[in-house]
Amino acid sequence: MTESQHKIHVLPEELCNKIAAGEVVERPSSVVKELLENSLDAGASDILVELQSGGKRLIRIADNGSGMHRQDAFLSLERHATSKISSDEDLFALQTLGFRGEALASIASVSRFLLQTCANEDGLGQQIYAEGGAIKRAEEVGLPQGTVIEVRNLFFNLPARRKFLRKEQTELSHVADVVTKQALANPAVSFRMKNNERMLLDLRREKGLRERFAAVLGRSLLKDMLEVEQQGGPDLRLTGLISQPQLNRSAASHIYTFINGRYIRDRVVQHAVMEGYRHLLMKGRYPVVALFLELDPALVDVNVHPTKHEVRFRDQGLVHDFIANALQQTLRPSDWLTDRDEDD
Ligand code: ADP
Ligand code: MG
Repeated sequence: MTESQHKIHVLPEELCNKIAAGEVVERPSSVVKELLENSLDAGASDILVELQSGGKRLIRIADNGSGMHRQDAFLSLERHATSKISSDEDLFALQTLGFRGEALASIASVSRFLLQTCANEDGLGQQIYAEGGAIKRAEEVGLPQGTVIEVRNLFFNLPARRKFLRKEQTELSHVADVVTKQALANPAVSFRMKNNERMLLDLRREKGLRERFAAVLGRSLLKDMLEVEQQGGPDLRLTGLISQPQLNRSAASHIYTFINGRYIRDRVVQHAVMEGYRHLLMKGRYPVVALFLELDPALVDVNVHPTKHEVRFRDQGLVHDFIANALQQTLRPSDWLTDRDEDD
């Protein structure tokens, strides 16, 4: 075969990253989701999210987590580079939110990206600036322990994508939604969010879900919320807050469900929640819930989609019935149901 007959070639790394970015980075809120996951995985107890123009101009996330040493800082920008898993088995025993090692490489490839990170208390950290994934500058600098990531002009090098970004308020509400979910799942972490220098969310560390729920969704809701706590075997547990039927919404947007600390949007779980409320809500009405399912990581596959919003259960019937029953049992003792026929 002559040289000119060759049609296949391996793509350059930067282009691969851009393609991968297409899967995880849709808009500012997807960047915030990935960066918050990293901050939480790094053990941060204090996270500040600063935006300009709803994140279209700037997303800056600062955490007080573990930080990274110099070499790790460089590696973190490479694709498939992660500190979180190292073998097949780890995939089925995940303790972290991240594991794909793709987020930073992807985000950096479609933005003007600044990483500042320091793992030592002695205050010597590393700063790396990249444009479209190409490192332009790197130097050692004095920094507090933790990590700051700035993402400017998202999609500056993908104009077709940039055009799809919506107006500031819309992008901002998507970001706020992402922060809200992480805030519910991590009451012991303080979250602050600013847009154009205005503080929009200021959540201090709380001792538990009730307090955080009140701070995020409104204290007035709390009196209509019931606590769920059910154990379904050594490796299956459901906790959280669910609304009494009189507190309901016209959309499912206040159904917050988490599996092993990860926000998920799962058909089976959603169906189980609605099943728990069967006959208690009018058609088209949805409860307010913040539910946390803990199960053996080996029984749930989160490696289904790059955004990790979907999962696949080893035994979905078991999970479904466990959740539905737990809700029914929690809802049943309350007095609005006392003289109601038990069967359906
Ligand atoms: P993943 O989270 O799947 O490992 P990422 O691309 O999101 O992949 O991050 C790559 C690596 O960079 C992580 O595994 C982690 O070691 C490091 N890292 C990223 N963000 C932070 C952070 N905020 N603090 C400390 N380390 C971080
Ligand atoms: Mg990550």
